[in-house]
Amino acid sequence: MSIKHHAQELTEAGLDCALKAGAVAYCSRHEEILCDKRDPEANDRAYAIATNAVKAGEVSGPREELLDAVKTVIDTAASGCPYCSAAR
Ligand SMILES: [Zn+2]
Repeated sequence: MSIKHHAQELTEAGLDCALKAGAVAYCSRHEEILCDKRDPEANDRAYAIATNAVKAGEVSGPREELLDAVKTVIDTAASGCPYCSAAR
């Protein structure tokens, strides 16, 4: 597996964890816009889900890598949908 492929897999797994936890969510009207829900409890839940996914062997590599990926997903998510806020 190439390094690039692994990074892609990590990003997708991180996104999956963040979505499952409700830490981030796609805008209900613009499915390409990922929004940060700004919920610290949901963020903690995302990290817990990531830890469990590594323990369960669903994601390969060290736990820190996936936790970093989750953090990146949350950090890079928009604070709100730019289209919806523009429409208001
Ligand atoms: Zn929107």
